[in-house]
Amino acid sequence: MGSRRTVLRGGRLGGASGAEVDRGGPLQPRRRVSYWCHAGHETRPHLASDVEAPEVWECAVCGQPSGMDKETPPAPVGVAGASHKTPYEFLMMRRTEAEGEVLLAEALEKLQATRTTSRRG
Ligand SMILES: [Zn+2]
Repeated sequence: MGSRRTVLRGGRLGGASGAEVDRGGPLQPRRRVSYWCHAGHETRPHLASDVEAPEVWECAVCGQPSGMDKETPPAPVGVAGASHKTPYEFLMMRRTEAEGEVLLAEALEKLQATRTTSRRG
């Protein structure tokens, strides 16, 4: 009573073998899940319907980890190696706007100081 046995009967897909059958629509052997990386790239891998969607997928554009939650994508990896970073990105990382203004102010101060000194001296 109630013993579960796997019985191959003819081996036809879609046959009513007692399992749940979707009605009113074609069976979808694959599904698409959207993933977003920190850069906002969307990756939509085709996943088999019987495979559980992984939490993280590799971005097809930049190779960074992507998550299913667009608002909170996983943090990018490989920052230490920074193989994907361009010199411009490095510059933006190192010099924030505030830093740039401070550097500019300092430079102007020095410039004025030198002028003043040279005038006096
Ligand atoms: Zn990406």
